[in-house]
Amino acid sequence: MHEVFNQPPPLEPYDPFTGDTVLTEAVARENAGWAAAELAAFGARLGDPETIRLGFEANRNPPALRAFDRYGHRIDEVEFHPAWHRLMAIAMAAGLHSAPWAAPRRGAHVARAAGCYMMVQVESGTFCPIAMTYGAVPTLRRAEALATEWLPRIFARDYDPRSRPAADKSSALIGMAMTENQGGSDLRTNTSRAEPDPGAGPGAYRLRGHKWFMSAPMCDAFLVLAQAGPGPSCFFVPRFAPDGRRNGLQLQRLKDKLGNRSNASSEVEFVDAHAELVGEEGRGIPTIIEMSNYTRLDCAIGSAGLMRQAVAQAIHHATHRVAFQKRLVDHGLMANVLADLALESEAATVLALRLARAYDETDDASAVWRRVVTPAAKFWICKRAPVLAAEAMEVLGGNGYVEESVLPRIFRELPVNSIWEGSGNVMCLDVLRALDRMPGAAALLREEIGEGARMDARLAGVLARLERRLAGSAGHDETQARAFTRDLVLALQATLLLRHAPSAVAEAFCAARLAGEGAQTFGVLPPGTALRAIIERAAPRA
Ligand SMILES: Cc1cc2nc3c(=O)[nH]c(=O)nc-3n(C[C@H](O)[C@H](O)[C@H](O)COP(=O)(O)OP(=O)(O)OC[C@H]3O[C@@H](n4cnc5c(N)ncnc54)[C@H](O)[C@@H]3O)c2cc1C
Repeated sequence: MHEVFNQPPPLEPYDPFTGDTVLTEAVARENAGWAAAELAAFGARLGDPETIRLGFEANRNPPALRAFDRYGHRIDEVEFHPAWHRLMAIAMAAGLHSAPWAAPRRGAHVARAAGCYMMVQVESGTFCPIAMTYGAVPTLRRAEALATEWLPRIFARDYDPRSRPAADKSSALIGMAMTENQGGSDLRTNTSRAEPDPGAGPGAYRLRGHKWFMSAPMCDAFLVLAQAGPGPSCFFVPRFAPDGRRNGLQLQRLKDKLGNRSNASSEVEFVDAHAELVGEEGRGIPTIIEMSNYTRLDCAIGSAGLMRQAVAQAIHHATHRVAFQKRLVDHGLMANVLADLALESEAATVLALRLARAYDETDDASAVWRRVVTPAAKFWICKRAPVLAAEAMEVLGGNGYVEESVLPRIFRELPVNSIWEGSGNVMCLDVLRALDRMPGAAALLREEIGEGARMDARLAGVLARLERRLAGSAGHDETQARAFTRDLVLALQATLLLRHAPSAVAEAFCAARLAGEGAQTFGVLPPGTALRAIIERAAPRA
């Protein structure tokens, strides 16, 4: 039998909170220091080898559609592996689906963001129903009767997976269904239609049509877009009708997805489904887009969390593996790669947590962050994440390509955050639109970045480029929307790092991301970069 040696120990138990300097600092800075003890306990639970194992099991055993019972009656159920249910219970017990709404306080959205950032590192399929439920609350509040009935269940922290009318359950989860076969970005092309159904009560409709993507179909209700009156309108569609019978939601099949495999994403037909109008007829897109802003925030948080896990695994591996008589981490070129990955991860984390704070506050600056920076951060963080994951995987060599390491799962998961809830181009066009429509937004961002620009000439250069784009036709030139959004995000990340990170990190970020054209690949930090200091700061601590 050959001897096994020079193989790193698994990164278990893993401490995603107290072992993560960047996260703990950001939580304190963004007003959620009060949640530190709770987050530490949650982190200990997540990083327990038993919880890590659940993540692997839930993804190895994807959900299956049970459209019919054995006698041919439609049941439209999805069966999940027990590991999925246990992970859902962990996420809900931590209040990730609704705590900032159920118990609002300063820093509540930041504390939740930190919890989600840690949760996705162990399993991210469960984040889909969690994020949609969180995002649905402000939209639901537009319909008073629905809010009165449903919010107490949404605020509950127990997980009740039973397929029953919501009235029989103590907790509830909410999904969303906008995308149709013929178009997901251009929602005005929706063909699903709802007609008033006065016999079923005030505000009741019958909804017919289809959705090409409806994730987490075992949610208790869905916010659905359908044509009514003058145009697309937002409807609340419970899985069981008020008479207790299954509502007319027929699950056609589950998507066979690249990643996100623990979670079910369905195609669904609505067959005279009972629906209740939310907001006004014809105002469905702005109504449901309010929910999307929260789920876009969650895409940024989720990708930042997965980036952190990839970097933690890479540094851990390189610290234990020896090649050519030295630990990988002690090889100069590997140190450059690891430090560059760590920079990207830290920049994503500080931006995502700062953005979450904007959801806690009500001043003008926060409104600009929510409206302009949310799509910008979603675009850039979600675009950088798959590239980072591929590089982190390579740090582990062949081991990284094998399912037993978590890297393949992370790599497959990440593209979806860029695609759903508004794909890259749509996000960048939204940034330009928001700047156009929000008077004072450009000035506010200029002020924010200006503070950083006074500390670093390279940032001043990027700010000048942003100004030129805004002042000239480029501000309205859609071909430049990605370039503009990239510059905006890099400038905000640099500003945050100059303000709050150690100088080694801020200096390296400005040198690598602001000077010249920025990183085309990882591992190209310039000579003289404090590689060791950056890696040590990012190293996971047990
Ligand atoms: C795993 C998964 C789960 C999902 N879950 C849900 C769900 O629960 N509910 C739901 O409603 N949807 C869901 N979706 C659907 C998702 O939101 C859509 O796929 C997405 O919004 C893009 O829509 P589309 O697929 O129709 O692509 P299209 O709208 O056809 O877009 C294709 C490409 O064209 C680009 N594009 C579009 N318009 C423009 C333009 N004006 N200028 C330049 N480029 C443009 C887009 O950026 C994109 O890259 C899910 C998708 C996935 C992959």
